[in-house]
Amino acid sequence: MKRATDEAITLDDAYWERLMAATDGAIAPCFQCGVCTAACPWGLLQDEPANVRQILRRAQLGIPESDGAIWWCATCRACEVMCPRGVPIAEVMLTLRNLAWQDGAVPKGLSSVLWSLHWDGNPWRRPPSQREAWTKGAEVKPFEPTDEILYYVGCTPSYDNRSQKVARALAGVLNAAGVSFGTLGEREPCCGDAAYGLGQHDYLRQIIAANVKLFAEAGVGTLVAVSPHCYDMFLNHYPRENGLQPLHYTQYLAQLIDEERLRFQEPLEAKVTFHDACYLGRRNDVYDPPRQVLAAIPGVTLVEMPRNREDALCCGGGGGRMWMETAAEERFANLRVADAAETGADILATACPHCIACLEDSLKLAGSPMRVMDVAEVAAAALGIGRSAQ
Ligand code: SF4
Ligand code: SF4
Repeated sequence: MKRATDEAITLDDAYWERLMAATDGAIAPCFQCGVCTAACPWGLLQDEPANVRQILRRAQLGIPESDGAIWWCATCRACEVMCPRGVPIAEVMLTLRNLAWQDGAVPKGLSSVLWSLHWDGNPWRRPPSQREAWTKGAEVKPFEPTDEILYYVGCTPSYDNRSQKVARALAGVLNAAGVSFGTLGEREPCCGDAAYGLGQHDYLRQIIAANVKLFAEAGVGTLVAVSPHCYDMFLNHYPRENGLQPLHYTQYLAQLIDEERLRFQEPLEAKVTFHDACYLGRRNDVYDPPRQVLAAIPGVTLVEMPRNREDALCCGGGGGRMWMETAAEERFANLRVADAAETGADILATACPHCIACLEDSLKLAGSPMRVMDVAEVAAAALGIGRSAQ
């Protein structure tokens, strides 16, 4: 983050004009109060943190970002909820990344994530033929238009060994509730979140156009996503006129509980604290449904961390950070695990594959006896299908 004090600075009016055009002028109201810098979690981990205000000031002056600070943003929006001028800071950061792509000034390694998306249909560099590997031991069938929902698994739960358990657990819970559902199997596409988080807006538009066509041809209506990132993409970045109705799975399970289709009979004695994923909470105001699912399980005692809901601390895995290195001692999740440990909970529950990965890594570093579980896994365990779902 250090800048040479004697560096020559070129003010580029064209850069500012490009940024203004790309953000519809949303960056202009920034009056440099610095509240965003104070709110950013990087300030909790570094002596010289990402200076959000300074990044925006340089942009206003027409100075392209040169030291990589725009790539630190986890798009958690903790700064936005505090900004007195309503600047959509995370979107501005992504737009700055987009300009960096246009100018060929992107950190090494990120292009390969997008090439993987292009060739394999996922950012994990895994072959499309393995997309259904998670279904081993799960009762899942191909989606038909007469099904109640399309179960949209997403890339991370399809390929990541840890998140595959979540995908299986959720399939078990849906089956226990008698839901008719199916998946698109190997045809399931990436939602485009990786392109979005890396600021590749042009490629994202292509992904969305192809997926809209695929969903329409498959007859998809209600789509239930495992990941808040996929849910956010479908809800906020896809056209609405094609009948697509995206839900995060916690919303759908809460609905099934209300309709008394999903019932938990046996107690699961556990003290649970819930971590709000940024793409579920701050981005989409989905705070109650995951808590409603946990509260419906007899024996579960829900305890809140002091930083919860809108004030929740980010795990650090959003905004493409899953594909960038973060030093072990500089991970937001280290602080989040400490927050959870202070509650005395047995289980740190969340409802996002990226949060699971970040929190579990930090939990291992901390050597804590607490367990990280997805809400779907807690529900499956309460239904007695936890073991088969693992
Ligand atoms: S909090 Fe808002 S107005 Fe203040 S410096 Fe940050 S972006 Fe600008
Ligand atoms: S969105 Fe989060 S990580 Fe990005 S600048 Fe704001 S507070 Fe920092």
